[in-house]
Amino acid sequence: METATPRTMTSRERVLAALRRQPVDRTPVCNPTSIATVELMDLVDAYFPEANREPELMARLAATGYEELGFDSIMPVFSIIQESSALGCKIQWEQKDNWPTVKMREPIWQEPDDIRIPNDLLSHPDTACVLEAIGILRRRYGDEVAIIGKTMGPWSLGYHCFGVEDFLLMSLDDPGKTKLCLDRMKEVTIRFGLAQIEAGADALTLPDHATGDLVSGDYYNRFLKDLHGEFAERLPVPLILHICGRTVDRMGYIAETGMAAFHFDSKNKPEESMQAVHGCTALVGNVNNPETLYARGPEAVREEVVRNLEAGVQLIGPECAIPLQTSIENLVEIRKTVVDWHAHHGLAH
Ligand SMILES: [Zn+2]
Repeated sequence: METATPRTMTSRERVLAALRRQPVDRTPVCNPTSIATVELMDLVDAYFPEANREPELMARLAATGYEELGFDSIMPVFSIIQESSALGCKIQWEQKDNWPTVKMREPIWQEPDDIRIPNDLLSHPDTACVLEAIGILRRRYGDEVAIIGKTMGPWSLGYHCFGVEDFLLMSLDDPGKTKLCLDRMKEVTIRFGLAQIEAGADALTLPDHATGDLVSGDYYNRFLKDLHGEFAERLPVPLILHICGRTVDRMGYIAETGMAAFHFDSKNKPEESMQAVHGCTALVGNVNNPETLYARGPEAVREEVVRNLEAGVQLIGPECAIPLQTSIENLVEIRKTVVDWHAHHGLAH
């Protein structure tokens, strides 16, 4: 049976429909993670590190994704350290051409009882900045474009607050203790997420760096699957789980969590990934960053976008936060290819 052709949708409607796996007028171009670049910073006079710390600059730089690149979403949380800063981690803020990072050689916690969520979690300047930027974007763009927030999962927070090595060692030595830590840290994910929804976010990216090369699919099942299910229940907007690396071995589990979408890495082929999630979660991705978007030209970008469209991937975008030196020319090619492809192939699914 033919489904009725949806009328022309706004960018916001398009993204939200695709996240619900409902019909769309064309596949949305979506960035669950940062698409900020040095070129875009120059265009709107909003630079790192200030654009990570001042709401107006954060909103202005993020809006270039919609205004200059033609994406259907705006995602202002460029870094992965805003809430870790509020938790007390020391941050290396870096310069225009680099992302801020947590100084992981100076972990703040060692034991579950060290975990304390400060009273100013949501009023700390680095979390408040995100909430204000989302508010500014909502007011500026109304219902026109999807505003996507970001709240880090407890596995990532564990890396930041305990140190990557110590956190992974703990998971080997004492799984029970690790689960207790995750359970305590999950409240940060929930509270920051709820505050962003209240500020106007339509959807949330939830990065939880149980990445392919550090953590197995079995680990995902034991430590994170239930927690991610709990997030999907307690955060009342579509959630986009982000995990880098080769993750096909856990996509089946992810599909059972109730996450609206999974933002997947180009180390996974679109076809095998669509099969692995078997229609139970949408996929977002997965144009390669270091080789294609950063080092090659529009022709290579086009090829990858088409491959995703042909596989039925519901939302198209870069696989992860893009390198800051990526060219505008390559980024613009993503939307252009999606529009051209639909002109020849008609509607998506
Ligand atoms: Zn990533």
